[in-house]
Amino acid sequence: MAARILDGKKLAETVRAEVREGVTAFKAKYGRAPGLEVILVGDDPASQVYTRNKEKASNEVGMRGHLHVLPASTPEDDVLALVQRLNADEATDGILVQLPLPKSIREQRILDAVDPAKDVDGFHPINAGLLASGRPRLVPCTPLGCMRLLALAEVPLKGAHAVVVGRSNIVGKPVAQLLLAEHATVTIAHSRTKDLAALCREADVLVAAVGKAELVRGNFVKPGAVVIDVGINRVDAGNGKTKLVGDVAYAEVAEIASAITPVPGGVGPMTIAYLLQNTLTAAHARAAGST
Ligand code: NDP
Repeated sequence: MAARILDGKKLAETVRAEVREGVTAFKAKYGRAPGLEVILVGDDPASQVYTRNKEKASNEVGMRGHLHVLPASTPEDDVLALVQRLNADEATDGILVQLPLPKSIREQRILDAVDPAKDVDGFHPINAGLLASGRPRLVPCTPLGCMRLLALAEVPLKGAHAVVVGRSNIVGKPVAQLLLAEHATVTIAHSRTKDLAALCREADVLVAAVGKAELVRGNFVKPGAVVIDVGINRVDAGNGKTKLVGDVAYAEVAEIASAITPVPGGVGPMTIAYLLQNTLTAAHARAAGST
């Protein structure tokens, strides 16, 4: 039987509507809109699109979204100075530094400088540590989106075996922490894992966050498993054009899984929706003086 398609585009609309309502209530209570500041350094075309979308999406839900575009030649200390200025700015609730930064800038130095209370990407070591110790505050957006998609699939996570392929700080590790918090038994696989296919076949829930086009084939999947495909890979479409595919061989796996996220239209739209949710969360925490 063909798998149920977990429509991330539609679900992201629901999340955005929830945030829009939350923003209206926030404004009524505190007399100001939550503020999101997005920093782009350089002229990477994909990053330009992502950052413009983030600014637009935040304004669409009633926030005060603003994009700072700095040239690729900007010295590291100037980027740092901007982050520090936004850290000190009362009207700024969320700061997002678009990655990757130009090679001349030490990414970790910049990310570590973001006030953890405004770290809406959830990448600061303090927020990563809080998540790992079971006290989540600001959690990375893509993993939050994955969990909401799993909720849509109504898959019982308690006691389920979840296999996460990928151990990045941005996706793999935080999604594993969130699954653990839901009482799944979690295995994290990576590039040194032996017999990945056999391991994945044990999964009730399989999350692929690798960045390798269609790595996960039909023989990686247990019949009835729920499959979340985080990967975004641009490949040759064979007609002189390119197309986006995930880390999962969709057509094959959709015949075996009980539910699956498509690429595009699965995890991707959820990421930006949870950036908005995180900005609202940060705004509330700051306004309530709890951070
Ligand atoms: P990283 O490159 O940081 O991490 C990739 C992980 O995959 C690493 O842990 C790596 O292992 C592991 N890996 C690589 N090759 C293999 C292999 N052959 N078998 C098993 N594991 C392997 O990527 P990200 O986590 O940042 O992103 C992963 C994918 O998700 C990318 O396609 C990215 O574009 C996409 N993405 C999508 C988002 C969305 O909104 N939908 C948001 C963020 C990312 P090791 O640690 O051993 O090197």
